[in-house]
Amino acid sequence: MNAIEITGLRKAFGDEEVLRGIDLTVAAGEVVCVIGPSGSGKSTLLRCVNLLEEPTAGTILVDGAEITDPDADLDALRRGIGMVFQQFNLFPHLTALENVMVAPMKVLRRSRDEAERIAREHLARVGLADRADAFPRRLSGGQQQRVAIARALAMGPDVMLFDEPTSALDPELVGDVLGVMRKLAEAGMTMLVVTHEMSFAREVADRVVFLDGGVIVESGPAAQVIAEPRMPRTREFLARVL
Ligand code: ADP
Ligand code: MG
Repeated sequence: MNAIEITGLRKAFGDEEVLRGIDLTVAAGEVVCVIGPSGSGKSTLLRCVNLLEEPTAGTILVDGAEITDPDADLDALRRGIGMVFQQFNLFPHLTALENVMVAPMKVLRRSRDEAERIAREHLARVGLADRADAFPRRLSGGQQQRVAIARALAMGPDVMLFDEPTSALDPELVGDVLGVMRKLAEAGMTMLVVTHEMSFAREVADRVVFLDGGVIVESGPAAQVIAEPRMPRTREFLARVL
């Protein structure tokens, strides 16, 4: 069963075609890392998968449901897809616990007690059980990002999308966030991850996809694409980032 099935995806902003025919499937439980230069369309690709951007052409299926169908129940589909961004975007006036409780209460209509139980469970999962009552400004960037991950997980998603989740962090805080992501992968979560962390991609990803100029230039097992890239453009990119 494919968790994500993307066929012929195109996305243009005005005259600029940013995605130019993407075919990509992610199997249930698979971790796929997307790498590529700035401006290659990585964020746009992820944003199309939960329809933060509307594709210009192509189809996207998530858990077998076509999200690009005009009649699709977008709220229900989006509930199944968690997304974590480079910027954590926590509510500054809410504690870590309250940040994680908001969506289960407002979107899933859970009671306050039930939402709190769910939120504490997920804060513990990201190693922040003891910071539940802290406000975002009292948390490090890495802790804030882990709250953002807990917040996404609290909705019980089938698929998690990560868009450069460690790019805004001080180097010494990157490891904790990657550690949480690694645990999530080991627990069988389906993950599509845009990242520049090549060691994470190499160790955790089942597959690596190299995107350049809005097309998939190369894709394959992580070890192969990163250690023995076949395409000159992939080699050139990796030479710059490794
Ligand atoms: P990446 O994440 O790989 O750096 P993006 O998907 O963010 O690339 O962007 C790819 C291209 O699409 C860039 O040229 C960017 O300027 C353009 N782009 C992205 N979002 C928009 C938008 N909302 N409006 C216009 N152009 C956009
Ligand atoms: Mg981006």
